[in-house]
Amino acid sequence: MVKHPNKEIMRKLIAYGPEKPITAAVVDKNGNILSISSGKINPIEKCIDPTAHSEVDAIRKACKKIGTWSLKGCWLYSTFEPCPLCSSAAVWAGIEGIVYSNNPKYRGKEKNWSFIKCRDVLKKASYLNKIKLYEDFLIEETKHFFL
Ligand SMILES: [Zn+2]
Repeated sequence: MVKHPNKEIMRKLIAYGPEKPITAAVVDKNGNILSISSGKINPIEKCIDPTAHSEVDAIRKACKKIGTWSLKGCWLYSTFEPCPLCSSAAVWAGIEGIVYSNNPKYRGKEKNWSFIKCRDVLKKASYLNKIKLYEDFLIEETKHFFL
């Protein structure tokens, strides 16, 4: 069992996409990275899919890898606060916990894009799945991403 929030996992994501992308990963209960996705590698434009956010993409890839829609016991890591779409995807996937780093406060002119906070989506959906949440994890290492 790996302890969350985990600095080593988040630092892998930060190193994976150092030039302002949002990078996300799904981690299994042993701390193994099942999937990783970066806005730089899998952009919405390339997929022609407005739902191809890094977190959703990481969830899809993890599900395909283990052959089930349920990610019970898994954690979602993201270098940026998951938007309402991605937060909801985590709920439907049965994710156990979310750890994110940067947040819209540090996203300069786009700072108001996240119209519903991740914590608010999780709170509203808690009757479906109680997801543990760690916000602003290692923020000092990511808050320059969008400046
Ligand atoms: Zn999103």
